[in-house]
Amino acid sequence: MCGITGYIGTEESKEILLRGLEKLEYRGYDSAGIAVGNKDGVHIYKEKGRVANLREAIDSDISAQIGIGHTRWATHGKPTRDNAHPHQSASKRFTLVHNGVIENYMMLKSNYLQDVHFQSDTDTEVIVQLLEKFTEQGMGTEEAFLKTLNLLDGSYAIALLDQESTDVIYVAKNKSPILIGVGNDFNVVASDAMAMIHVTDSYMELMDKEMVTVKKDSIIIKNLEGEKQDRATYKAEIHEGDIDKGIYPHFMLKEIDEQPLMIRKIIRSYQNENEQLSVKSDIISAMKEASRIYIIACGTSYHAGLVGKQFMESLADIPVEVHVASEFSYNMPLLSAKPLFLFISQSGETADSRTALVRVKEMGFTTITITNVPGSTLSREADYTMYLHAGPELAVASTKAYSAQLTVLAILADVASTSNGKSSGINLISELSIIANAMEVLCNSKTEIEKIATQYLSTTRNCFFIGRGIDYFVSLEGALKLKEISYIQAEGFAGGELKHGTIALIEEGTPVIALATQDKVNLSIRGNVKEVAARGANPCIISMEGLETDEDRFVLPKTHELLTPLISVITFQLLAYYAALHRGCDIDKPRNLAKSVTVE
Ligand code: GLU
Repeated sequence: MCGITGYIGTEESKEILLRGLEKLEYRGYDSAGIAVGNKDGVHIYKEKGRVANLREAIDSDISAQIGIGHTRWATHGKPTRDNAHPHQSASKRFTLVHNGVIENYMMLKSNYLQDVHFQSDTDTEVIVQLLEKFTEQGMGTEEAFLKTLNLLDGSYAIALLDQESTDVIYVAKNKSPILIGVGNDFNVVASDAMAMIHVTDSYMELMDKEMVTVKKDSIIIKNLEGEKQDRATYKAEIHEGDIDKGIYPHFMLKEIDEQPLMIRKIIRSYQNENEQLSVKSDIISAMKEASRIYIIACGTSYHAGLVGKQFMESLADIPVEVHVASEFSYNMPLLSAKPLFLFISQSGETADSRTALVRVKEMGFTTITITNVPGSTLSREADYTMYLHAGPELAVASTKAYSAQLTVLAILADVASTSNGKSSGINLISELSIIANAMEVLCNSKTEIEKIATQYLSTTRNCFFIGRGIDYFVSLEGALKLKEISYIQAEGFAGGELKHGTIALIEEGTPVIALATQDKVNLSIRGNVKEVAARGANPCIISMEGLETDEDRFVLPKTHELLTPLISVITFQLLAYYAALHRGCDIDKPRNLAKSVTVE
């Protein structure tokens, strides 16, 4: 969750740390802080709210060549200034930032730290107090750090300063992401490469349960037994322009608009030299051997999984179940004889999905990750990975990653089907090209979609999205998008299900957005619209060319029936965007949410 930056070198650290934190803002957070060290000691600045508040609070004349920074997404203790990181040990010798959750912090407090007065309500503070306790018993910093890490249960990315040796940042990792960036006469620490791409594109990955001493001219990685580990560097393929809003007021709008181009890029990325769609043969063999595919995901990726199930079952004839990751790990269904697991995660760091991945790997099953982030934890740990090629997604509410997930799932289903010698019955490259064109039409229909948002969503307290079949799955995503950024209470429902209870919530004027893109359920969804309209709802039918009637509010360009989610979702993304804009919400950083959810 959230972010960490660190710098050690010859330049002013505070500006580098703050710029890094600004680039991590997209992950969502509620407070921010930095600690910088110079000959006068370690200086801490922290503030509730945005990095901009922190920037204002920092002494303009402070000069320091080493420092650590943090954005916090509170898990233990309210998002106050006192609970913001960095945290310091009682004597102020150690200063530390932490992302993750220390599950056994209560036990550690009562076993080791009963005499210590805690300054915050966080789980984090036990780490820094334990360190001090062990150094007071005569251990060196590294020994005390290793001993502390060996006591921690849970997830952590840590950066630590020791007032008595201001030429080193100590770093550690378990489950939460953190990288070391390598420079010339400096080194940096960051939650992701994007945060520090302004100073270096050369990075080292850390494995779980590793500890690092980072100096300006050396990086030493050890495991928690204290044994040295070799590590190569890799080049991060990110450009500063990818993470710039450009002419757009919000990343979300930019990312919605990027979708047509992205579809074309994904097609190219999965074409072989004969211009046929192609996926690693090992992945296809694993699919052929499987008796059932289990798609495991959370949030928007889960909704993509539901559509993916339709692709796999109708194109490749493989039975598929889709599960919410946080439920799957602790309430595992009876598995089929030869299951294959497919994890979908934009960031590749989603802790709930990772827990499920670790469990099924322990059971000896084959795993595939579909993710946007090369080198991410889920991509490293699964047997196979398919990348989304969507480019960095910075708005917290996912848009282009959802469409990329659908596209990659469609490609996977299509290749699995054709490799069986059977035709999928669809010329996917050509149908996806039609989709890309239709997406462009929708991106150019912003004025009309904004009018719909104004008419239906400017003042409403709640809203329903209904659909049948594949439209139902997109309705779930439409409702989630609206909830996430506009805070309107929105629910996605199967059209026929509302009357079994929830229709009691329909009042005079309640907006019901109905999606009608499927011929076989076109009449029945329209019947469901009549049911809610008869009870006072304000229906808004979004249909598709060929199925439209005079009562429809918006008509989508015609595309292949199975692929309609790729375009209907754009209407929903734009509806959510304009609803949030008119309600004055913070679109790219909605309250309470984080971009990569690295806690369970
Ligand atoms: N669990 C810690 C806290 O609540 C760290 C949260 C984070 O990852 O930002 O302070």
